[in-house]
Amino acid sequence: MLRFYNSLTQKKEDFKPIEKGKVKLYTCGPTVYDYSHIGNFRTFLFEDLLKRVLTAFGYEVYHIMNITDVDDKTIKKANDENKDLKEVALRYTEAFKNDIRSLKINEADLYPNATDHIEEMVKIIKILIEKDFAYVSEDNSVFFKISNYPDYGNLVKISKSNINDNQQVSDEYGLDNVNDFALWKSHKEEDGKFYWDSPWGKGRPGWHIECSAMSTHYFGNHFDIHCGGVDNKFPHHENEIAQSVCAFNEPFVNYWLHSEFLLVEDQKMSKSLKNYYILSDLFDNGFSPEEFRFIMLSSHYRSRVNFSMDRKDEARSAIKRIKEFESRLLDITNEKSNELPKAVKLFNQHLCNDLDTPNALAEFYNWIRLTNQQIDHKNLSLDEAAQANAFIFYFNSIFDILSPNDNVPEEIMRLVQMREQHRSNKEWEKSDLLRDDLLSKGWLLKDTPNGPKLTKI
Ligand SMILES: [Zn+2]
Repeated sequence: MLRFYNSLTQKKEDFKPIEKGKVKLYTCGPTVYDYSHIGNFRTFLFEDLLKRVLTAFGYEVYHIMNITDVDDKTIKKANDENKDLKEVALRYTEAFKNDIRSLKINEADLYPNATDHIEEMVKIIKILIEKDFAYVSEDNSVFFKISNYPDYGNLVKISKSNINDNQQVSDEYGLDNVNDFALWKSHKEEDGKFYWDSPWGKGRPGWHIECSAMSTHYFGNHFDIHCGGVDNKFPHHENEIAQSVCAFNEPFVNYWLHSEFLLVEDQKMSKSLKNYYILSDLFDNGFSPEEFRFIMLSSHYRSRVNFSMDRKDEARSAIKRIKEFESRLLDITNEKSNELPKAVKLFNQHLCNDLDTPNALAEFYNWIRLTNQQIDHKNLSLDEAAQANAFIFYFNSIFDILSPNDNVPEEIMRLVQMREQHRSNKEWEKSDLLRDDLLSKGWLLKDTPNGPKLTKI
């Protein structure tokens, strides 16, 4: 049975989907005014892990991730560059999707744009006004009235005395204020040509209402899991709950899961500290996507992870251990059994326990150590080796840190093929020369009963 820590109840709970075998998962997506940073990718990798584990345990997951293509930041960027909002959003949406693919994050089933759902947002705001959960301010913005919703603050456990009744804040990202928040922001001069018509005049929606509108539009008013980074908990998710519950008078989301912060060299990432990285900075520094995945997944998603460029070596040698082991197994057989070794049971128990990847990894490495000993003593049977191959395959379906063929460049593959030609012509000297050539290019070639095997050195 899968168990997750639910931020709403602050407890680990058995996971039971609303509809048997199916999971509706909504995750907050990027604001497309710039490249996503590696802290964002920590969250996206956690969500990817959750999906992979749910899938491995037989669930059919339907995943929606919104694209925030209208807010203060996107509008400012478009105005600064004198470009259309759509053009700016498209540029960074494409960049985001490229990054997702390069990190082997499985894509969502749908990436709806906020600007394609303004109508649904207006509809919810109208309901909230009718039910007296929202009011129109003097400048024709609309605010949610938190004092009319007694459960406000339940997600982040805000004490009622900290709630400022009747004070409005239109900064969507402010973390300190517990005030009435903006559902609709009236048009201001600095917004330029970007606005939509509404019953309250020209303006644009607030950030929070977009997620309430899109999640309920696609999933219905009540669905299974909502995720995000811990920084989304307040005010964003608290406000989403308030809006949705008050508009629809139904439970909103059953399980709220949040991943912790990523620190860089023990500090919060910031441009001014010069420890702010986007994905291409990592690749420029020689990181592979698999190495970054390893560092993120070797910490529990609810613990802070401390990133530094130095951790590349640690990740590299950890991955190398698995690859060397895999290579020894392939010397025995490249068959994959339908059965898995017993160690999988403990590995799965850790994953079931709120996605405990550090302990699942520890279990996996322990199994590698023991199986290596069996190989040393020549007492690993063909069957056991085939089961071990199946475990590695299963392990990689969750962690995805073993790249097939080490992404062998075409030039190297050509040399391997040439050498195979020489070998079949029994031209041993030429074949040896090519092997030396490969070695000088950083690739160790070994002939095995299953054909030539390349390892990057
Ligand atoms: Zn959201």
